[in-house]
Amino acid sequence: MSGHVAVRSGVLVGPRDVPDTLDDMTIGATDVARHIRQMVTPAPSASAILESFRAPTPETPELTHQAETPDESATGVISPSTTGESPDASRTAGPIHQPKAPHEMALQANQPATLDDRSRGNERYLSKMAQFETNHVEDVFLPTAQRSLLVSVYERLSRVQAVAGHGNFNVISFDETLRCARDYSSVEPFPPSELAFLDALFADNARRYGFFGEKVTSRITASISERDRRKIPYTGHFLFRGDAVARYLKIKRDLGDRIILTSGIRGVVKQTHLFLAKTIAARGNLSLASRSLAPPGHSYHGVGDFDVGKVGFGARNFTADFAETDEFSRLVDLGYIDMRYPLHNLLGVRYEPWHIKVV
Ligand SMILES: [Zn+2]
Repeated sequence: MSGHVAVRSGVLVGPRDVPDTLDDMTIGATDVARHIRQMVTPAPSASAILESFRAPTPETPELTHQAETPDESATGVISPSTTGESPDASRTAGPIHQPKAPHEMALQANQPATLDDRSRGNERYLSKMAQFETNHVEDVFLPTAQRSLLVSVYERLSRVQAVAGHGNFNVISFDETLRCARDYSSVEPFPPSELAFLDALFADNARRYGFFGEKVTSRITASISERDRRKIPYTGHFLFRGDAVARYLKIKRDLGDRIILTSGIRGVVKQTHLFLAKTIAARGNLSLASRSLAPPGHSYHGVGDFDVGKVGFGARNFTADFAETDEFSRLVDLGYIDMRYPLHNLLGVRYEPWHIKVV
């Protein structure tokens, strides 16, 4: 956590005195601030959401979608893994539901698949992905009993982020997070129940709630050494040295100041924080959360990929609108857009035209 400058005013500023080939970037402070706000954790900021979500209230109508699920076993369960004990262990242990991959969805056991079956399954999948921000009947929810844990872990990670700074939080390791919690009274150590929750979330099989992307980081304690990363001035983000930095520099050379890094390296802790934020905002719907945010360990931002946006385009950089911009067309023409999550991908992830594949 040393050696990085993080100004805690909502805007992160890179160390201006460090010589850097990116120094020719001339982007207004307002634009920088706007862009950086996009990829700091999209906090379920309204304390009302957090409060209403804290106490387990099984009768809450919004959280009874599980009951609509035809298959009882589809109930969302995060089972505690090997370490620590979860206070909810007895209530949460349950069958693991394995949804079929999208192209398998129409296939019934003991029945030969017909082309019609396949296309019906695909159609259903594609219409769900087109409405990735709404609840769908087969969605898997976090068990109600774990809602308060979800919120307390999220809040503790937010306090770590406040101590480390938004920039450094992008690359903080799990061990550094635990140390930070121990060392700062504003954070306080993670209790065993929260550690077990984090372990279980990381170890969970994301396919069971509909995310079919690869797991690219195998250990929750994976860390990114300072040697391997580089802070990108005026963005509050880091990139891996080597291919990622080279690709970004080339994009900057080709497109100039109209394009900017909007999210670089995201370590396991940062990805977990984002995923929890999204899960809270989705009122416990793990499937909905994973349609727009890779679950912990599954983000290619942990191994090299990054996001770019058009300067001044604000939050629309993280929508399909980005694909309508001239900047996006230029990126395509120049061959940068080898998409990780193309339109109509079968990985359970929404269309992400802003995501630059490096790995
Ligand atoms: Zn991305």
